[in-house]
Amino acid sequence: MSARALMLFCAVLFVVPSVADDAITLRSADGQNWYRGNMHTHSLWSDGDDYPEMIASWYKERHYDFLVFTDHNVLLRGDKWIDVEKNKGGQKAFDKLVAKFPGDWVQTRTEKERLQVKLNTFDTVFDKLAETQKYLLIQGEEITDKFKNKPIHMCATNLTELLPPLHGESVLEVMQQNINAAVSRRERTGEKTLVHLNHPNFGYGVTAEQLMKVIGENFFEVYNGHPGVNDSGDKTHASTERMWDIINTWRLAKFDLPIMYGLATDDGHSYHETEPGKQSQPGRGWVMVLADTLTPDAMVTALEAGRFYSSSGVTLNSVTFADGTLSVEVNTQDGVEYQVDFIGTRRGFDDKSLPAIDDEEKAKELTRVYSDEVGAVLQTSKGASAGYKLTGNELYVRAVITSSRPHPNPSEAGDFEKAWTQPITPK
Ligand SMILES: [Zn+2]
Ligand SMILES: [Zn+2]
Repeated sequence: MSARALMLFCAVLFVVPSVADDAITLRSADGQNWYRGNMHTHSLWSDGDDYPEMIASWYKERHYDFLVFTDHNVLLRGDKWIDVEKNKGGQKAFDKLVAKFPGDWVQTRTEKERLQVKLNTFDTVFDKLAETQKYLLIQGEEITDKFKNKPIHMCATNLTELLPPLHGESVLEVMQQNINAAVSRRERTGEKTLVHLNHPNFGYGVTAEQLMKVIGENFFEVYNGHPGVNDSGDKTHASTERMWDIINTWRLAKFDLPIMYGLATDDGHSYHETEPGKQSQPGRGWVMVLADTLTPDAMVTALEAGRFYSSSGVTLNSVTFADGTLSVEVNTQDGVEYQVDFIGTRRGFDDKSLPAIDDEEKAKELTRVYSDEVGAVLQTSKGASAGYKLTGNELYVRAVITSSRPHPNPSEAGDFEKAWTQPITPK
């Protein structure tokens, strides 16, 4: 080989990205651990029905690694006294609190002949229950906004100053204004705050076409365990999973925007209910984040790098993307079978769409109907592991793993346990 040819050869080697550039290995090894967390939690600081220390204990006892408190437009700080009986948890919640935290932990007073209890702050609960590298509590907020009759809620994870809802002249503007505020706050304080859009189908507040355009945050809840949020949509409303595929197809093919990641969360409000399938109980949806340390910064960093998957019951050993193949391996349960579907959109897809209903004005408030080539099922198999070899013309590919085991406490009747990997985008 001549010197010139060698130089050319080396130049080609240099500019052609190797497979290793794309490689993703999500597996507990080399100091990396899976951390299980719930990023959407309500307490008596807003409209949940239990005390924050009781909720933190609930998750700790079930071996979660982290929990984010996200009460509506409030941080768990300052003096807040509430009537012992006249609150969402009532006497029952109070009695359980006193039984679990005896002695002088619970502070009470009598005002106008009514017994009041002081809500403990985030810092106090953290000091009592968090454990270094074992159990982390993170302060968050559900920025609770709306446009006309459309609820628009966004959780901010890891912040020390409240982000008040900023409103706007359209659904998109409301989302964007609140994101912009979080981004500029983050720039000013250096705090790694992560914002994600909650339950787009709650009140059918947000469509795929609106959410696909947001800039500056790229997370939404593909699964929310509250039974009132319509995860699976209905005859005229797309499911959240369908919206996910539409959003990512347009972000990648049309808007040159980053991939949107899908979270699973509880949105717990009801901590005393014992009947399965009722109300917004905790324990239905969570994320598994791969990181080398359990801190708020490390959780946000790993989430933003897509180093996580979401689950409503299925646990994965690994998610890898190597040599052009996306592979998943399930941590199996005895007697349970698994189906692995690889979903994605190929380049050159049919991009036509139709309004979801005939009424043109009302149809603007509904996600449109797209071809099956958007979010197509690329491969399906049974078994605990599977791999999909990319052809190279996919915009993105993701895997969804469905268990044969019905969800033990479903938010929607008939739900099976699932896991969702994050979409990968071949370079
Ligand atoms: Zn909400
Ligand atoms: Zn909520």
